[in-house]
Amino acid sequence: MAGVMGDEPFISLRNVRKIYRTDTSEFLAVSDVTMDIGEGEMVSVVGPSGCGKTTVLKILAGLHAADGGSVKIGNARTPFDPGRDIGMVFQQALLLKWRTVIDNVLLPAEIVGLPMKAARARARDLLNLVGLAGQENNYPQQLSGGMQQRAAIARAMIHNPKLILMDEPFGALDALTREQMNLEMLRIWRESGKTIILVTHSIQEAVFLGSHCAVLTAAPARMAEYFPILLPYPRALPMKTTDEFGAYARRIYASLGLGASG
Ligand code: ADP
Repeated sequence: MAGVMGDEPFISLRNVRKIYRTDTSEFLAVSDVTMDIGEGEMVSVVGPSGCGKTTVLKILAGLHAADGGSVKIGNARTPFDPGRDIGMVFQQALLLKWRTVIDNVLLPAEIVGLPMKAARARARDLLNLVGLAGQENNYPQQLSGGMQQRAAIARAMIHNPKLILMDEPFGALDALTREQMNLEMLRIWRESGKTIILVTHSIQEAVFLGSHCAVLTAAPARMAEYFPILLPYPRALPMKTTDEFGAYARRIYASLGLGASG
């Protein structure tokens, strides 16, 4: 169920630091990020362009090692296997154009070596969940951008990962499709109960989707603020015009140093 907290956090980052090194230079990308994330939370991560958001996701995904601090994922109740328990969604859907939609969704299942008959049934369920029932045997080029991104979300969930990392997943979509996908994403999150960390440039999206919001400072990233977003569920788009929603958006603008009027 969404929002359930175990005794210990599901994810615990403590003073995480990351330096990118080349032969001749060093670049401190992340200086100090600390946060605890409970199982089933949807954490939106915002911060200025180039501040280190993707770097933090890559550290969580195990693609980069932190140079300082600690990263712990999993707890006694929910153990975590980094090889199997992560699903990723990027700004581009990155579907293979020579595979049908369902065969794209099945790709991680093949890589992880899941029994394919059960995986195929699960892929159909997931395509239903993301609103792509009936598109199984179409090819990616027959799908709109929003539909391709839905397929990418289903693909990220095929191996039933405990953590889904999303890097600007709706950044390439037009504004209305993006809003539609925001609604869908809330529904998918609530129905699946997954822990999701979502990087976004959109403050509106961060507030609308997040059960919690992490605001990072300009590079090298530090945690500026981390707070729960206590807007009620189910959330609907007109909620974006409420005072309560506006107050959260203002809090993020202020913490990004964008609170002043011109
Ligand atoms: P964001 O996702 O917030 O836009 P990134 O995490 O992608 O930021 O990058 C943070 C900073 O680290 C940027 O200045 C970027 O240029 C730098 N950076 C990212 N990846 C590398 C890398 N592999 N080598 C060197 N510098 C990098």
